[in-house]
Amino acid sequence: MTLRKVSRLPVHTGQAGWNSILPPAPPPAVLGGDMACDIAIVGAGFAGLSAARRLLMSDPKLSVVVLDAGRLAESSAGRNSGFMIDLPHELTSSDYAGAGEAHDRTLTRLNRQAIGFAEDLQREYGLPTGYFQRSGKINGAASEVGAAANRTYAEHLAALGEPHEMLDAKAMRQVTGSSYYAGGLYTPGTALIQPAGYIRGLAAGLAARGVAIFETSPVTGFESAGAGWTLTTPKGRLRATKVILANNGHLENFGYKRGRLMHIMLNACMTAEIPGDALRALGGQETWGLTPSDPMGSTVRRISTAQGGNRIVIRQGGYYRPNMQTSAADLARVVARMRAKFDARFPSLRGLPFEHSWSGHLCLSKNAVSVMRELEPGLYSACVQNGLGTTRGTLTGIGAADLAMGRDSDITRFFLSEAEPVRLPPHPIDTIGANAYLRWKEWQARAE
Ligand SMILES: Cc1cc2nc3c(=O)[nH]c(=O)nc-3n(C[C@H](O)[C@H](O)[C@H](O)COP(=O)(O)OP(=O)(O)OC[C@H]3O[C@@H](n4cnc5c(N)ncnc54)[C@H](O)[C@@H]3O)c2cc1C
Repeated sequence: MTLRKVSRLPVHTGQAGWNSILPPAPPPAVLGGDMACDIAIVGAGFAGLSAARRLLMSDPKLSVVVLDAGRLAESSAGRNSGFMIDLPHELTSSDYAGAGEAHDRTLTRLNRQAIGFAEDLQREYGLPTGYFQRSGKINGAASEVGAAANRTYAEHLAALGEPHEMLDAKAMRQVTGSSYYAGGLYTPGTALIQPAGYIRGLAAGLAARGVAIFETSPVTGFESAGAGWTLTTPKGRLRATKVILANNGHLENFGYKRGRLMHIMLNACMTAEIPGDALRALGGQETWGLTPSDPMGSTVRRISTAQGGNRIVIRQGGYYRPNMQTSAADLARVVARMRAKFDARFPSLRGLPFEHSWSGHLCLSKNAVSVMRELEPGLYSACVQNGLGTTRGTLTGIGAADLAMGRDSDITRFFLSEAEPVRLPPHPIDTIGANAYLRWKEWQARAE
């Protein structure tokens, strides 16, 4: 019955470019006064909004309220690169292969359920086709390090029976317009989303079906109250029979899994609109998505008017920050590196300004497990997405909704069978060790 305080709220550095290129959002609804509902969800990202949709699918009469600390699509939900990947995507490995064939087969099957869930809601909620496209992706390789990673990953895919195709330098040029890549590994199952458009469209679809979504309503305290929970925000209080925490690494700020979660900051830049003559000179396909063959390299996407303009988006630079924040100096340092990487890949576009640059947070556990379970009676978690939060967040959200409804599914069974996130070394040893490791890995993958 004692109020537990939330120790830290999200702080973002730089503009969430994907959100900035969409039409302005309407003013936010803010929680004010006292309110009650059946199920409250903390966090309006992939996990929280997917949980809300799954709850409505189970029982359209449930009263569901979603609270977010900020505006929709301004958190990592609108700061990511928009790859909804079906295959194993283990960032801590050197080629994305996961924890073994059986595990990777199961995860791939579940990831495809999440992608199917996203495709269904695109149709049902009328999202523009450019916000979710089943386009596949390429693991681009520029150096022998990258080519070797692609070869071992291709062997892993062959063992899993997954379709894939090796591309040579000419084929890479035909897709990307860039002569930078010596080869690539194409896999067909990834969907590319406009992450902010997807999140806003999902939220609008839920709101139209009766879900109340309050933005700029951070949960600052929570307490168990009889047969339910009370959440406190700066201007209101929400009583709920059940609560789902869908706030990824911020789970720790609610007092759970402290000392077990790794907070990595990733950074991205989005160019200004590419002028028509430069676009023609560049060539290549209108939209494509390239992840680096080595997880520590640069992700690159070309987008078109269907996503918010003819632009290129580049993502680079992971570092470990237990406080889940990037300083302006950190961001400026990585933007300079991304500028050099962009110019090396697209010399004909040298000097094209980056219109938006930003940093965002992702949360990993050392043993690559999520936290999708009942934490206390009536309090559930859909958190710790391990770098593939568009897909994994969708899954943990569905799973937490199923748990809250007392439903057993292959998603709940998968996450409930996972181990606890393992304990990390104490601060500051964890930070020093992780950053030294990340710098070394990034140096190894410097051409990628
Ligand atoms: C640059 C970058 C590139 C990335 N690229 C990809 C990619 O291509 N594919 C991919 O799958 N993943 C990618 N990711 C990771 C992905 O963005 C995250 O894993 C994903 O957003 C996690 O989803 P989520 O719903 O769990 O959390 P989030 O999207 O972070 O949503 C959690 C929400 O909780 C809210 N919240 C936190 N605390 C509180 C509180 N106290 N009260 C109320 N609300 C609160 C936050 O405001 C936030 O909106 C990338 C991340 C970054 C930064």
